[in-house]
Amino acid sequence: MRSISWLPLLLAAGCAHTPAPHPAQWTYDGETGPAHWGELVPACAKPRQSPIDLGGAVHKPLPAIAVHYQPSHFTVVNDGHNIVANAAPGSFIEVGGVRHELTQFHFHHPSEHVIDGKHYPLELHVVNKSAAGELDVLAVFVREGAENATLAPLFAALPVKGGQLPLDNLQPAALLPSVQAYYTYTGTLTVPPCSETHWLVLPDAIEVSAAQIAAFDARISHNNRPLQPTEGRDVSTTP
Ligand SMILES: [Zn+2]
Repeated sequence: MRSISWLPLLLAAGCAHTPAPHPAQWTYDGETGPAHWGELVPACAKPRQSPIDLGGAVHKPLPAIAVHYQPSHFTVVNDGHNIVANAAPGSFIEVGGVRHELTQFHFHHPSEHVIDGKHYPLELHVVNKSAAGELDVLAVFVREGAENATLAPLFAALPVKGGQLPLDNLQPAALLPSVQAYYTYTGTLTVPPCSETHWLVLPDAIEVSAAQIAAFDARISHNNRPLQPTEGRDVSTTP
C-alpha cells in the first residue's frame, strides 16, 4: 500500500526546519518504525488497528464471498515499502450483495495476521474497494512449497525501488485458495494511512517456492507490522 505524500502540505506550511520527519518517511525500523507511525499519521494511533491474532474467533454463518476476477493487465511498482500490483478495472468481489472493485494486490514478509500465533513467510493482500470507498481486503497466507506459476512472471522480474513492471493477462483469482471459509473483523490497513478496513482472511495457504521467497526478500527484506491489540473486537469465522 502506498503512503500519501504530505510534502506539499509541509512545504506550504513552511515547516522546512521542523525536526520531525514528515509522514511519507515512515519505515519498518527505527525512529519512524511501526511504534512511531501514530506520531506521523494520527489515524495509526486510533484504537482497533490491524493486524491481529484471529485465534478464538466465534463461529457463525457469514455471507458468501463471490469472486468475479478476470485475467487483466497489472502495473507493478516497488514503492520502497512494498511490491504493489495495480489492477486494470473490471474485476470485483461481492460480499453480502455489495460490490467491491479489485484495485491492487501486494505482499507482506513475513505474514502479519496470525491464527493462534502461526506465521507464514508471506501474506498476500488483495485490496477491493466499494463505490462508497469501503475497503474489503482479502488476506491470503503464503507458505513455502511448489513454485507459484501465476506469480512466476512477477517474481522473476520484481522491480527495484522506484521501478515498474507491466504484466499482461494475470488471473488474480488463481492467487486465491478456497473462499468458502474465512475469518472476518474490522480493523485498518496495516500501513499508513491506517484507513478503516474490513478484513476477509482466508485460512487455507497458497504456495510459492523457496526461490520465489528469496526473490521477494532480495527486494523487500521485511515489511510486516507487529500484531496489534484485539481490544475485544468481534472476530468471526465460518462454521
Ligand atoms: Zn497489506
